[in-house]
Parts: sequence; C-alpha cells; structure tokens
Amino acid sequence: MEKLTKKSVPVNRSPLTLSERMYLPSVVKGLSITLSHVFKKSATISYPEEKRPFSPVFRGLHILNRDEEGRERCTACGLCALACPAEAITMEAAERKTGEENLYREEKYAARYEINMLRCIFCGYCEEACPKDAVYLSETVMPPNFTRDSFIYKKQDMLIPNKNNQK
Ligand code: SF4
Ligand code: SF4
Repeated sequence: MEKLTKKSVPVNRSPLTLSERMYLPSVVKGLSITLSHVFKKSATISYPEEKRPFSPVFRGLHILNRDEEGRERCTACGLCALACPAEAITMEAAERKTGEENLYREEKYAARYEINMLRCIFCGYCEEACPKDAVYLSETVMPPNFTRDSFIYKKQDMLIPNKNNQK
C-alpha cells in the first residue's frame, strides 16, 4: 500500500536486552530529566506568602463610588446592566426623598444593586458605560468562598466607606 507520508517509522520488534527488561535506560533517562530541573529556576511560587505582580490592566472586584461630599454617585440609570454581556448586574431604583440630599447625589438612586460575581467576566464594560463615574473595577482579587450566595455582591459590599463619617 502506498504511504501517505514519509514520516512513518518501522516498529522495532527486536527482543529486549536484559537492561531494557529491568527498565534501566528508562529509569536513567527519567532521573536525568529530574536532575536537570533541580538546578533550574523554579516556575512555582509559595502562594499565599509570595504573590506575583498583577498586570497593570488587571480588573478585580467592583467598587461603588461616592462623590467628594460622600454621597452615592449611582443614579440607577441601568446603563451598566445594559452593557454587561454576562447579565450579572441587577438593581432597583428609588426616588430620593427630601432630607436625603446628603446621601444620594442624584434624584434617583439604587435602593438595591447587586453583581453576581459567578457570572461576571471582569470585562469592565460596566465601568465604561457608567456616566456618573459610580462603578469601577478595583485591584482587589475576589476572595474564594464556599456558597453561591456569597458570590452575589450587594450594594453595601461594594460601596466605599464614607470618609466624611469617619473620625
Ligand atoms: S465587569 Fe463585565 S461582566 Fe462583570 S459586571 Fe461589569 S460588565 Fe458585567
Ligand atoms: S453604576 Fe453607573 S451606569 Fe450603573 S446604574 Fe449606577 S449610574 Fe447607572
């Protein structure tokens, strides 16, 4: 039969020598590979004591921002949810009441704002879509967890502390 390529190699069917039957060549070959790695720089690190530097464009957990007066910037316009390709953002809008001007910058605010981090792909589209500079992705790595609910980040989990209330 005509060969398709010239790469085929005939199988060596000669009987094994004594050393081959004792796996000596294979053991020596394996040990030499192991030894050659002993003197090479290790490719692994001792995490979590040691950490690798992140890329300058790394995107981590979301932050909900406040303005200079400590008021919530988000006006629950929904643009971030609309831009999100993973449909990870949910929110409920509420009207600001008289006397709440020190809490919310706009007349409308997010009474509920949630991001499902199991859906999020950290693309940053929500940050880009936000016209109020209210949401951005920080350099914080999402901590591991054991339950699905713990990956639903609520508004209070993401809202930065109000500096004006800290003494
Ligand atoms: S980073 Fe991307 S996937 Fe995650 S919530 Fe924002 S828009 Fe959605
Ligand atoms: S975070 Fe920005 S884009 Fe999203 S609802 Fe609030 S103001 Fe609108």
